[in-house]
Amino acid sequence: MDSVSRRKFLKIGGASVVLSAATQSALGRVEELAKTKSSKGLEKIPTFCDICFWKCGAIAYVEDGKLWKVEGNPLDPLSRGRLCPRGTGGIGAHYDPDRLKYPLMRKSVRGEERWNQVTWDEALTFIADKMKKIKNDYGPEAMALFSHGIGGNFIKHLFKAYGSANIGAPSFAQCRGPRDVGFNLTFGEDVASPERTDIKNAQCLVLIGSHLGENMHNTQVQEFSDALANGVSLIVVDPRVSVAAGKAKYYLPIKPGADMALLLAWMQVLVTERLYNKPYVEKYGFGFDNFAAEILPYSPEWAYPETGIEPEVIRATAREMARYQPATLIHPGRHVTWYGDDAQRSRAIALLNALMGNWGVKGGFYYPVSMDVPSYPYPEYPHSDKPKVDNPDNKFPFAHEVNTNGIRKATISGEPYPVKGWFVYATNLIHALPDEQETIRAIQNLDLLVVIDVIPAEIAGWADVVLPEAVYLERHDDLNVEWFREPFISLRQPVVEAPHDQKPNWWIAKKLADKLDLGHYFPWKDIEEYLEHRLNAAGLSYGQLKKEGIIRGEKQPIYFAEGVPDVFPTPSGKIEFYSLQLAEAGFDPVPKYTQPAPPPAGFFRLLYGRAPVHSFSRTQSNRVLMDMIGENEVWINQDIANRYGLKSGDFIRLKNQDGVISNRIKVKATERIRTDCVYMIHGFGHNSRMLKFAYQKGASDAQLITRYKTDPLMGGTAMNVNFVTFELEA
Ligand code: SF4
Repeated sequence: MDSVSRRKFLKIGGASVVLSAATQSALGRVEELAKTKSSKGLEKIPTFCDICFWKCGAIAYVEDGKLWKVEGNPLDPLSRGRLCPRGTGGIGAHYDPDRLKYPLMRKSVRGEERWNQVTWDEALTFIADKMKKIKNDYGPEAMALFSHGIGGNFIKHLFKAYGSANIGAPSFAQCRGPRDVGFNLTFGEDVASPERTDIKNAQCLVLIGSHLGENMHNTQVQEFSDALANGVSLIVVDPRVSVAAGKAKYYLPIKPGADMALLLAWMQVLVTERLYNKPYVEKYGFGFDNFAAEILPYSPEWAYPETGIEPEVIRATAREMARYQPATLIHPGRHVTWYGDDAQRSRAIALLNALMGNWGVKGGFYYPVSMDVPSYPYPEYPHSDKPKVDNPDNKFPFAHEVNTNGIRKATISGEPYPVKGWFVYATNLIHALPDEQETIRAIQNLDLLVVIDVIPAEIAGWADVVLPEAVYLERHDDLNVEWFREPFISLRQPVVEAPHDQKPNWWIAKKLADKLDLGHYFPWKDIEEYLEHRLNAAGLSYGQLKKEGIIRGEKQPIYFAEGVPDVFPTPSGKIEFYSLQLAEAGFDPVPKYTQPAPPPAGFFRLLYGRAPVHSFSRTQSNRVLMDMIGENEVWINQDIANRYGLKSGDFIRLKNQDGVISNRIKVKATERIRTDCVYMIHGFGHNSRMLKFAYQKGASDAQLITRYKTDPLMGGTAMNVNFVTFELEA
């Protein structure tokens, strides 16, 4: 990344992201070295990043087997030649002294973090024997997999071959699931990942609790930056003046939990003032008259006491959106598990977008395209007569992926059938799921817990067997056949060797399959044979992909105006303003508002979010990233801080409504947050003693999230329903 691009990222990522002098000089040295050594055989090897799940194309600089730096691959449509600051720090994952080095087996009670170092053969034999016994005693469905990212593909394949479809990811029920369900119910399709948002062409962009920039998904942030440079009219709704809010034309400091009230009032203004996109709605809408009648009572005056946003501001922002339609984009967000009505709130966002007439239209939502690369021709998976374990009796009728919390619940109750083994791949369940005690209760019911990861996060401490994975710079993964605004594929390949006895996930899955007598599901000799087979079947060259990292396909239409068929795969075949499928299932066919419970006296709502240089709780061991943000702070309104005698830099502990007390956390006293809530970055406050460097730096929001509300449509866990007060240091 050139220095101008890096400055642009840091600017939009927030003033708090300041490279220390040490990091700047280290990066400078690396750049200098790359320049001076390039004539003497410095290798540039393409791969794609895994510091988060976004999969940006990267180029690694390596000399004599030593990794010097990683930068963006200019051929890659996702990274456009630039990694985000977090991706640039990817080298820190390779050099992390606290990473897992050897297979470990538990030698005392779960959670004590006492281990025997074992060989791979010992570890895999133990796991295979346990899995065979579980299959024999309870059936294959008694094994469940929790997975995150593309690296989990071969472990998922192993699970399907073994006979279990109980495969879930926190990215559904703890993150984007309600959004995808809300959009699916409205347009018949979800928002996808990377999101199909045409940010760079939007003329008006609305962010609701979505702090783009602090939430660093490279392509979106680059497009956001382009849109700002093009003069986009930005409306930001957030109880906190985020970095994005600082750039907004309209900033609406909403009362936490009242977003649905604002959405309904906006739609009421657009409908009653007849400002919506009438030709589009008439052509594509279903049930518009019923919808219009339902939202009529939600005037800006009604919404004012709920939201704290003055009626004239609600009207002005609704008119601003109408002014730029159809190139007005109300961003669907990503982490949207907030208050329990999240799928319906996401549906309200989908409906507001539909009123703008922006689905399939430039500046709104495009139709992602991909290259045609056939899957590997594996034998058929065994059939199971049992339904998936997470959603008994179809209680959450619109859940279209497995709910992690549903697996956890079944593990505790044994209903609808027992779950006796978990594999956890690349996700720290203790921090990812709400109510860590519930997760620990479930773990105590298991006969087998296997964790595959690169770092010893909290979940590893509870495992029976810990398998150390090679980091992304040391391994191949499955082919990335991306769905995006243009078709392309990308390759992850090793650029350096793993420094200890770490192995790639494909190797682990294949070896374990052999021990489970499932070797015929992994008929290839090694992953390169697998990759070559898939590419040959698509008429593509593995040699070219290895050399360039990316193969791009022909451009294809992505808007209705370019020839994308204007078809909506909903029951009515149209955009469902009024949803008969919701009505038939006993839910509101048009979203309604429910007031959230207010904070108890002396308590503040706990809000949390992302940092531009960290990914969840998985990067606090990375020295390069920790050099940029090394601990989190709790944002407290200045007046509230004064009332408690607190100032920025003081340390306090947070105590939640159930008496749970956090680790020490630094105070940030600021006018940039409302008085009824506090805010912290997610991912810090590690209590795993194996994470020596990250241990107890900052506090964990996850520890304080002891309560959650379940979304009735899809079973997601809403987590912005916890409150905290302050425990002052003696
Ligand atoms: S967004 Fe950043 S961390 Fe994520 S894959 Fe891209 S460069 Fe890596």
